[in-house]
Amino acid sequence: MAPPQRSRVPLEFGGPLGAAALMLLLPATLVHLLLAARSAPAHLLAPPPALPAPGALWSPWALQLCLGWLGLQVALYLLPARKVAEGLQLKDKSRLLYPINGFQALVLTALLLGLGLWAGLPLDALADMLLPLAFAATLTAFVVSILLFVKSLMAHPSALAPGGNSGNPVYDFFLGRELNPRIISFDIKYFCELRPGLLGWVLINLALLMQEAKLRGSPSLAMCLVNGFQLLYVGDALWHEEAILTTMDIMHDGFGFMLAFGNLVWVPFTYSLQAQFLLHHPQPLGLPLAAGICLLNAVGYYIFRGANSQKNTFRKNPSDPSVAGLETIPTATGQQLLVSGWWGVVRHPNYLGDIIMALAWSLPCGVTHLLPYFYLLYFIALLLHREARDELQCLQKYGLAWQEYCQRVPYRIVPYVY
Ligand code: NDP
Repeated sequence: MAPPQRSRVPLEFGGPLGAAALMLLLPATLVHLLLAARSAPAHLLAPPPALPAPGALWSPWALQLCLGWLGLQVALYLLPARKVAEGLQLKDKSRLLYPINGFQALVLTALLLGLGLWAGLPLDALADMLLPLAFAATLTAFVVSILLFVKSLMAHPSALAPGGNSGNPVYDFFLGRELNPRIISFDIKYFCELRPGLLGWVLINLALLMQEAKLRGSPSLAMCLVNGFQLLYVGDALWHEEAILTTMDIMHDGFGFMLAFGNLVWVPFTYSLQAQFLLHHPQPLGLPLAAGICLLNAVGYYIFRGANSQKNTFRKNPSDPSVAGLETIPTATGQQLLVSGWWGVVRHPNYLGDIIMALAWSLPCGVTHLLPYFYLLYFIALLLHREARDELQCLQKYGLAWQEYCQRVPYRIVPYVY
């Protein structure tokens, strides 16, 4: 048998050393953030006041809760879907099918939760278990990544992701070898991308809100805003679930530790940092400022949704009346690039809207601490890196047409700034 062909894609994230460092650094950062959010000084950049005892990290109950949550979301994924969508064409010219029932999973989870709360479920207790839960979720992510790596060794070469097939096991374990790992028709990456992590994030937020109400008699306005904004974001992602099929994560990245940890651990436990901070550091928020923050979130959402929907509609059906009048640049691949509408303002208008929303989620936490702005800072770094990766891929894919697009739309994310 011929040896498997290695991918020639340039290594990212600093190669194997960078990947190994990130696999240690990300869980350590997570523990630091969880400890800092509940400490009195809440310093982002100073070491936490005390390291947790090993007993504070490990709890079999937390592991059972994590696995139970995953099991529930798998069961909801397997329910009949209102629609089955086709993914983009793969290397072997085939297309995979994906159930579109993420929003249904959100509604059913909310109903089950409502029933549980009515029956006396102490959801607020989750707020005291974040550390062992995050540890259990991290263990789960490691085990899932190991199983995925072993599974990928048996995969057909055409099923491997362009980036995660370098031949270096550490790097490939981190980036993910197989593009769309599946067990029969159950798509592991697609499931993890939107369900357990995003729904886990709003569940943790709600537990923190309930804990605050228990401690102080009612939830604060700041906590309600953070919960509301982030619920809207998660609901929107699940409502437009099909749009994930054209994102970089699904189309380009393999499913390895980076996405498993990101989806199952990083999103629910660090994206809820503002609510964690507010539980331990209540912030006064007047109505006029709250109204201003709501307006900022609405502006961010308007740009984010408008840009994402415009591109998705255009990619699905360029003659759709809502996009048919937009100016385009033809490319040698047969695809066209939008050069007017949102995509004529900057090259990543959707990132701009997302960053504005990230700012609106932090502002209810006041300006005395940097910690609740961690998401904003991290997210800007993530999107700058993502934007650079995407630019490179588009240049390779579209060549001269992409160069013309860059000339006509010179700014990447923020008009006249960047
Ligand atoms: P995009 O949705 O921006 O997709 C980039 C792709 O769009 C390109 O590869 C290209 O693909 C196509 N494209 C680029 N320019 C044009 C154009 N002018 N006309 C038509 N098509 C174009 O990338 P992401 O997957 O990074 O982001 C999706 C959303 O998810 C964003 O809103 C982002 O902010 C959000 N996000 C949120 C995260 C979070 O943790 N909250 C994390 C990551 C992303 P092609 O030509 O092949 O179609």
